[in-house]
Amino acid sequence: MSAADTGTKPPVDRTEEEWAATLTPDQFRVLRMHGTERAGESGLNSEKRPGQYRCAGCDAVLFDSATKFESGSGWPSFYKPVEGAIGTNVDTSYGMRRVEVHCAQCGGHLGHVFPDGPRPTGERYCMNGVALKFEPAPSPPA
Ligand SMILES: [Zn+2]
Repeated sequence: MSAADTGTKPPVDRTEEEWAATLTPDQFRVLRMHGTERAGESGLNSEKRPGQYRCAGCDAVLFDSATKFESGSGWPSFYKPVEGAIGTNVDTSYGMRRVEVHCAQCGGHLGHVFPDGPRPTGERYCMNGVALKFEPAPSPPA
């Protein structure tokens, strides 16, 4: 499955060879091959600082730390993406009906969204940490 399944070409469009050259093997496996990192593997699980979460593929801002919450799943979880930053597809692999989440800009696979999140959205964006880059907010002047 690829971004082409949505019928729209993502604005950032590279060949798989180009992605392989710019991403780490783990990033490539998740973003381009719909892989899933092991639960608890990402250092972003415990990231509590204010800041922004960007796409590891194309640098698009995807989530704000204000929407991150501790889901207990072992994957970084958010209840709301940045407006227009992500796209979704219904994913029926593994005999389950899940909603796949990808970066709207480069089509990179990020994770899945489940309808069991906290208020106000009730959604749980269950993300692969390796698909994200955390950028801490500048600290206030001392
Ligand atoms: Zn991206």
